Amino acid sequence: MLEIRNLFKSYENKPLLRGISFSVSQGETICLLGASGSGKSTLLRMIAGLEFPESGQILFNKIDLAQTPPHARDFGLVFQDYGLFPHLNIFDNVAFGLKMRNIPAAQINSRVAEMLDLVNLQGFEKRKVTDLSGGEQQRVALARALAPSPRLLMFDEPLGALDKSLKEDLLNQIRAILHKTKIPAIYVTHDQDEAFTIADRILFLHDGEIIRDGTPDEVWTNPNSAWAARMLGMGNVIEGRMQNAEGRTWNVETEFGVFNVECEHKHLAGEKISLLLKQFPTPVFGSGARGEGDEIKLKVEDVLFKQDQFQVKLRGGLVIHLKDAPKVGQIIRVKVQVECLA
Ligand code: ADP
Ligand code: MG
Repeated sequence: MLEIRNLFKSYENKPLLRGISFSVSQGETICLLGASGSGKSTLLRMIAGLEFPESGQILFNKIDLAQTPPHARDFGLVFQDYGLFPHLNIFDNVAFGLKMRNIPAAQINSRVAEMLDLVNLQGFEKRKVTDLSGGEQQRVALARALAPSPRLLMFDEPLGALDKSLKEDLLNQIRAILHKTKIPAIYVTHDQDEAFTIADRILFLHDGEIIRDGTPDEVWTNPNSAWAARMLGMGNVIEGRMQNAEGRTWNVETEFGVFNVECEHKHLAGEKISLLLKQFPTPVFGSGARGEGDEIKLKVEDVLFKQDQFQVKLRGGLVIHLKDAPKVGQIIRVKVQVECLA
């Protein structure tokens, strides 16, 4: 399906994307997760044909799209700000791409009705854009993108402007629609919750490169870098210094004690590294738990109520989650699993 090969792009001599490669298969939703300003929208605009890479290729079904103008690519786009035409009613918005393709009126009527049905806006044809809520407008935008049966759908932070409960609702609808239609999709966001809900595969965009590509389960179990671990809100990324090793197992000195850590990468004694301290047993999905875990003893600095558990802040900025609230000032013992992040 879609294949991106070694894309480079810079603005004002500042490199933004430095050799981006990935592919998207039929029926697959990939999620591009990156901080604000990391070049996510630029990458989507290049795939849409609205902007050009300095080098590299964009292929669809093995055909290079360099000479294919945006409208001929048959890709659908959904933006954060909906991008609806305010002077047109809902029918005309959804019908827009179909009219451009000179499809007969009767066929357009039934396709628009079908699409409004799909996004749960049956009978909204005559309504004005300005009379709809943000969530409804975004569903119209989705119906408009889907109407011409695009070969690929791209979402650029589509839920950014919506409040939390609406977000979840719409995200689940988008997920259901993507599964039903099997249209390959690229979903761009800086929100890890969204990424984990929608993605078959997550790609981390950092410093102009894709630094991690894997299923949600894989990247959660093994984020592979301090940046990815922080981006995923795993929180407890600490600094350490390599002391000595026995094979691949290093003694790593940290402010929380010396840990015995197995590292896949090559290291030198004295080297500074980042470690991930996971609460043990791991409370969220991911079954990477090995062995017994290490025990640390720390003072409770703050306790926050978080729905079904308490978020406990410990000395040194560590955060863990417990079913029962400890007292501030109390010393508690926590089992952690320590992983090397590079
Ligand atoms: P993201 O969508 O990840 O937030 P963008 O792709 O929008 O990131 O932008 C990445 C960077 O590229 C930003 O620093 C932005 O200022 C810069 N940029 C984007 N478009 C242009 C442009 N047309 N001219 C100059 N700089 C741009
Ligand atoms: Mg953007």
